[in-house]
Amino acid sequence: MKENLILIAYIISAILFIIGIKRLGKVDTARQGNFLSAVGMLIAIIATLFMMDAIPLEWVLTGIAIGAIIGAVSATKVAMTAMPEMVAIFNGFGGGASALVASAEFFKIHGGSAANNDTTTLITIMLSVIIGSLTFTGSFIAWGKLQGKISGQPITYPGQNMVNGLILVGMVIFGYLAVTNMSGFVAETTEINMLWFSVVIVIGLFLGILSVLPIGGADMPVVISLLNSYSGIAAAMTGFVLQNHALIVSGCLVGASGLFLTNIMCKGMNRSLGNVLFSAFGKVDESAVQKTTSGVTVKEMSPDNAAYTMQAAESVIIVPGYGMAVAQAQHEVRKLSDELEKTGVDVKFAVHPVAGRMPGHMNVLLAEANISYDKLFDMDEINDDFASTDVALIIGANDVVNPAARHDESSPIYGMPILNVDQAKTTFVLKRSMNPGFAGISNELFGYENNYMVFGDAKATVSQFVETLKE
Ligand code: NDP
Repeated sequence: MKENLILIAYIISAILFIIGIKRLGKVDTARQGNFLSAVGMLIAIIATLFMMDAIPLEWVLTGIAIGAIIGAVSATKVAMTAMPEMVAIFNGFGGGASALVASAEFFKIHGGSAANNDTTTLITIMLSVIIGSLTFTGSFIAWGKLQGKISGQPITYPGQNMVNGLILVGMVIFGYLAVTNMSGFVAETTEINMLWFSVVIVIGLFLGILSVLPIGGADMPVVISLLNSYSGIAAAMTGFVLQNHALIVSGCLVGASGLFLTNIMCKGMNRSLGNVLFSAFGKVDESAVQKTTSGVTVKEMSPDNAAYTMQAAESVIIVPGYGMAVAQAQHEVRKLSDELEKTGVDVKFAVHPVAGRMPGHMNVLLAEANISYDKLFDMDEINDDFASTDVALIIGANDVVNPAARHDESSPIYGMPILNVDQAKTTFVLKRSMNPGFAGISNELFGYENNYMVFGDAKATVSQFVETLKE
């Protein structure tokens, strides 16, 4: 009876996870999706507590309380721009937890007290330990790169991919040795099994470090999304070891959605996952920076004149980018949109899939500023509208509006779909300098006949627009 009730609770939580993840896919249902998934997790935790007679409840509750306090405080305090770092840490702990739980099961088998010691259990233990340990260290390297604690430059040496590949092969061989003969407890082989098991953990931890170090800091969001997927796979493997259905389902959902997200980000940048992981993209190309700072002649406009131009326009499309997030200008942007609408201007927002530094970055910021969802348009929905728009206002975006992506085959972003801002009658680009964006390359849009640069911090410039419009 008790087992059936627990199973029903797990099925309910699995259904809530699936509905939750579906609802997370749209901005207007995302909060509800998050809530439903959290309720699903609560039900799964309560059901699991009923199952764990062997562990004193006060230990478990103390752990839950400590974790809940740390999670709540860090989630409340984290800045919007630091979300990728926080997700990286959570992934790391998720992978580490799966590896620890699987290790505990290995020790049980080693000590002869495990209920299951069949080959499938041993293989899933090793997979959980391998994936979990490399996710743990890899995530912390990703966190360090984003925080600037470790150089964001790709750290490379000749033959690096080959060395990492050999380490991976070595880990699989040692993993095989660690579990050989354990099924059925051949007592004299278990000490040597323990030695190989320790070797696998140490190599896993090293591989996590070595595989993330060569990737440029700006590619970390893609890496974090992939590591998120790994942490889900490690959790699902641990679910098989423990025969816990909720863990299997939630792990598979995290694993699959992390992979989908990674794929979406790669497509949005027109790069393959292999290129992100193995090409050391992001090394500073001095010639590109030189070209950026010296090659393009640009026209400048004052914030006041830009504001008057927008006031006189019939339609304005606002294009937010990473710089808007850095400047935390979203609330000022909302005020600007309100002021323009008061004077009868039609205002829309164009959101590129990889604008900012994480998927949905711009949607989250604009939603935080209470900008109505029906004003936000995806690239495919709005790209044709630019040709009939008076002003495209580009706030801290650079690569996602670079026309070179359409025609310059030598450009690292060639083929990346971009927002067609250059087709608007006039474009205003708000940024602080002529420095390049994420891809480290010059933007030919800045030198176009219909473009004007409005230099300065995005928040200060947009505030100035609002002031001018109010006068
Ligand atoms: P970019 O990184 O191309 O450009 C951002 C611009 O913002 C810079 O040119 C910078 O210029 C400007 N900026 C920075 N701070 C401020 C400030 N305080 N005020 C005003 N401007 C500022 O951003 P995009 O959003 O256009 O493109 C995103 C890039 O990130 C793409 O190349 C994408 O491939 C990549 N990427 C995106 C991911 C995602 O999931 N969204 C994941 C991984 C990579 P200046 O310094 O002169 O002010």
